[in-house]
Amino acid sequence: MIDKQTRIKIAIQKSGRLTEHSLALLERCGLKYTRGRDQLIAYGENMPVDLLFVRDDDIPGLVRDDICDLGIAGLNIVEEKRLQFKDAGIEDPYTQVCALDYGHCRLSFGYPEDGPIKSIKELNGKRVATSYPAIVKDFLVTQGIDAEIVEFSGAVEIAPSLGRADVICDLVSTGTTMIANKIREGETILESECVLIQTPVDIPEEKREWVDRLLQRIEGVMAVRESKYIMMHAPRDALPRIKALLPGAESPTILPLEGTTDRVAVHVVCREYVFWETLEALKAAGASSLLVVPVEKMLA
Ligand code: ATP
Ligand code: ZN
Repeated sequence: MIDKQTRIKIAIQKSGRLTEHSLALLERCGLKYTRGRDQLIAYGENMPVDLLFVRDDDIPGLVRDDICDLGIAGLNIVEEKRLQFKDAGIEDPYTQVCALDYGHCRLSFGYPEDGPIKSIKELNGKRVATSYPAIVKDFLVTQGIDAEIVEFSGAVEIAPSLGRADVICDLVSTGTTMIANKIREGETILESECVLIQTPVDIPEEKREWVDRLLQRIEGVMAVRESKYIMMHAPRDALPRIKALLPGAESPTILPLEGTTDRVAVHVVCREYVFWETLEALKAAGASSLLVVPVEKMLA
């Protein structure tokens, strides 16, 4: 059974665009779990962590009410609910711990191609259909625009052809949905990606250590996303030039090579993407036997 005092609860999307990535992230943090028969909860086997599978819209509320210690959801939902809580007089419903670099999308205005409106400058007195009424309202207010918001819970893009709205404000990733509905994407009002949020309540002592550990592991997983371990042989006197070429590198390990004094082995972790151009430049600087390997885990 779930023990609130000692087990960490994390809310994640039950089934949707974020589910697979969120589970993969937690697995990369070392979590092994079994999913209960009802599929709504997964119990961590090797950590005091349980996962609650819910609709993404419910995640901010579960964290704000301290039912869950942590939650993973799109910034679009997290920000929309934060503004709704604020409207209800509740400030800081949760803390946003970090961005997770998946679920990228943007909240943009969309203008019907055959309609008269081409930009937000023409929105006064018009109707905007959206599933993000609080974010759109906040934006309109800061821009001094007086437009009516028509709330849609889905299929926002059909609102103009139904005659329910003049323009839309909706999530876009590739843009194909808008194009298919003869809508031109306009101004973006929010750049979104998946984020980790944490309860506003102090986490009990018994759980604190594991929460800190988990957050540190997530940080570690994030840090190695683009990281590569590079190994090469190089002339000792080319080292300053080689060090300058390495992207986002910490100080390299220099090892002697058997049977020679003027060539060494260089091992280094690069925190940024390593392009072919970089390898070619290293080769031109005298490096040979270049090897680039992925980094799986890192503990700073
Ligand atoms: P449920 O409410 O059942 O959990 P949903 O239909 O609201 O699911 P999904 O369509 O799975 O949610 O999207 C979840 C999240 O994925 C969005 O809130 C957003 O952060 C992100 N996302 C990324 N690209 C897109 C996109 N093109 N359209 C919608 N959401 C996107
Ligand atoms: Zn949803």
